[in-house]
Amino acid sequence: MPAATKPTPKSVLISESCLQKRIRELGTQIAADYENQELVLLGVLRGSVLFFADLSRAIFDAQLETPGREVQIRFEFVQLTSYHNSTQPATVELIRGGSNYLKQRHILIIEDIVDTGQTLDFLYEHLSPLNPKTVKVCTLLDKPSQRRVPVTIDYIGFEVPDAFVVGYGLDYAQQYRNLPYIALLESV
Ligand code: 5GP
Repeated sequence: MPAATKPTPKSVLISESCLQKRIRELGTQIAADYENQELVLLGVLRGSVLFFADLSRAIFDAQLETPGREVQIRFEFVQLTSYHNSTQPATVELIRGGSNYLKQRHILIIEDIVDTGQTLDFLYEHLSPLNPKTVKVCTLLDKPSQRRVPVTIDYIGFEVPDAFVVGYGLDYAQQYRNLPYIALLESV
């Protein structure tokens, strides 16, 4: 792609300090909701990795602040891929992950962004034979304007407009994941 047409992050949509503040709030809420339980955080690779790391630390910090509140956290990951075309619903496929360890556990899916809802819908189907005790969803970003499949989201960091966003784990062609903030992309 010629350099002149390469999309670049345009403007900061959610600053680093806003992200971190909201993640601490989510950590506190999740630590309270799963008090004295074992919880599997199921990260959806790759976009959720920075959020996953900061959120799991926030849950841990919330436990330290409230002695007696203990959540036993386990880490699991899945990697999915989706093939989009403009007229058909996306085809989502599992690349790796989803171990037997998930059987009959409390699972909290950690997503970077929920857009059409097709990835989450696929994951629910995939997890159902494992008969989990509960399956909930925590997403950093929610783009409800693009929803094609109705999905329930239990914890939302921020709602974002109908635009392509990058940063804090989210990429464009594997770029910009390392930005510490969420930015709008100039043209995609
Ligand atoms: P869904 O299946 O809900 O349509 O899409 C979920 C996936 O699409 C996300 O995990 C993410 O990989 C990708 N996605 C959707 N919207 C955006 C966006 O604005 N920016 C980036 N970087 N990825 C997006």
